[in-house]
Amino acid sequence: MRIDIFTLFPGMFTAYLDESILKRAQAMGQLTVHLHHIRDYASGKHRITDEPPFGGGGGMVLKPEPIFTAVESLLATLPHEGAERERPPLILMTPQGRPFTQTIAQELAQHAHLLLLCGRYEGVDERVRTHLVSDEISIGDYVLTGGELAALVIVDAVTRLLPGVLGAEGAAASDSYATGLLEGPHYTKPADFRGWQVPDVLRSGHAAHIARWRREAALRRTWQRRPDLLLTAPLTEADKWFLRQLAQETALSE
Ligand code: SAM
Repeated sequence: MRIDIFTLFPGMFTAYLDESILKRAQAMGQLTVHLHHIRDYASGKHRITDEPPFGGGGGMVLKPEPIFTAVESLLATLPHEGAERERPPLILMTPQGRPFTQTIAQELAQHAHLLLLCGRYEGVDERVRTHLVSDEISIGDYVLTGGELAALVIVDAVTRLLPGVLGAEGAAASDSYATGLLEGPHYTKPADFRGWQVPDVLRSGHAAHIARWRREAALRRTWQRRPDLLLTAPLTEADKWFLRQLAQETALSE
C-alpha cells in the first residue's frame, strides 16, 4: 500500500514511521509513505499557507491554493490522472468526520493507495472539503491541534491489517473489534507473580479447552465493558448459552 500524507509538519511523522511494525512494513515493501509539506506548494516569497477567516473570529484557516496544488501535483504523476474512478481516496482528518473504527480500517486496507490530509489551526478552507476531498475521518469526539496524530492512527491501524505485516504470531484476526467482540485477557511468564496465578487451563496444553476459555473470556469482557457489541457480533449457539448463564449469574448477584 502507498500512503501520501499532506501536512504542514512532516517532521512529526518520522519517529513513529521509523520504528517497530511500521518500519518493518516499509522494509517488507508492504507500505510506502510519502510526506508532502504543504508549504512547498504555497506561492509568493513568504509561502503563506494560512490566513484569518473571512467574517472575523479567532484563529487561522488553511488556504485552499497550496492544498489543491499539492494534491493535484501528486495526482498528475499517477497513471490515468483525471479519471475520477481511478483516483485514490483523499481523506481529510477532521473532528467532524465519520468516527474511525476497525471496520473502516479494514475498508481502507483494501485500497492500494490512500491520500491523507492533515488540517491545522481552525481547519481547512471549506472549498477543500467540498471540491477536493472524498472522505472525512475523525479519530474521536475531542479536538486535537492538528491532523498529524489522526493520520498516524490511520496509518498504524491500516498497516497492521496488510498481509504478512504482523506475521502469524500477531495475527490481527482475534483482536478486539475484528471478531465483533473485545479480546479476552492475556498472560505471560511467570506463571505465579506475587501469588497471582495464571489460569490453569492456559497451561494445560489442551488446545480446544484453551480456545473455549478464550472465547468465553472475550464474551465476558464484552458483556462487562461493551454490551452494545453483542447486538451485532456473530455468536454461536454455545456463545448464546454462555451469555444466558452470565446474565443469570449477574441477576443472582444483584
Ligand atoms: N475548528 C475545528 C472544529 O471545531 O471542527 C477544529 C480544528 S482542529 C484545532 C485542527 C485540525 O486538527 C483539524 O483541521 C483536523 O485536521 C485535526 N483534528 C482535530 N481533532 C481531530 C479529530 N478528533 N480527528 C481527526 N482530526 C482532528
